[in-house]
Amino acid sequence: MVNCRRCSRLVEYREEVARKKRKEFVDWEYWGRPVPGFGDPNASLLIVGLAPAAHGGNRTGRVFTGDRSGDFLYKALYKMGLANQPTSQNLEDGLELKGAYVTAAVKCAPPDNKPSTEETTNCSAYLASEIDSLRDLKTILCLGQFAFNAVIRTIQNKYNLPRLSAKFGHGRVLRLGEGIPLIICSYHPSPRNTQTGKLTEKMFLSVLRKTLRDPKIARNKPRLAVRKRVSYHAQFTLP
Ligand code: SF4
Repeated sequence: MVNCRRCSRLVEYREEVARKKRKEFVDWEYWGRPVPGFGDPNASLLIVGLAPAAHGGNRTGRVFTGDRSGDFLYKALYKMGLANQPTSQNLEDGLELKGAYVTAAVKCAPPDNKPSTEETTNCSAYLASEIDSLRDLKTILCLGQFAFNAVIRTIQNKYNLPRLSAKFGHGRVLRLGEGIPLIICSYHPSPRNTQTGKLTEKMFLSVLRKTLRDPKIARNKPRLAVRKRVSYHAQFTLP
């Protein structure tokens, strides 16, 4: 995946950013390639963001690393016992996740943080394969509307579900049936949200806490094969 060049616009952008660099990172050798997911291969919790930041993941080579969204996210994961340290600075910083895996819906940094529909579709196979690879997966936490939409499409395809008219909302929980990971929503921890108070640390920790405590998580068993027809019902609940 790190050698993928399928989306010409994103390839051009990620490499241009890596060449030009931001002044404060002029001594960095930017990653400038698709950024893979990171975390515990036995994770029961998958956290999905939008895409790597141009001078964050696209610089460091690790998702949510080297930018303020990542500072917010990993500090919270540390407080919940899901990370061994509260910061994520670079590939050599010793960060390890326990029970959690972090990725993005689109693996290359997009201009203005806005991948096109075609680019998102191009990249969807990588998200699907990450979901497939997490054999103990029980819950997917979607950071923001974009990630939510991408996850919903991927889960629909994976489990042959009918089209969902699910709506994103902070703290919402989507239960799709036995054997299918719970889908939980949070506002994205972007500076735009965290600096305006739209998403506070308390709010985010609350979602994480309820995510980990939810007894239905334990009852979801993704290892069970779900064939063409599943017992399907969608229900939103406010935790
Ligand atoms: S966004 Fe995904 S599909 Fe497009 S070039 Fe990057 S890795 Fe490949």
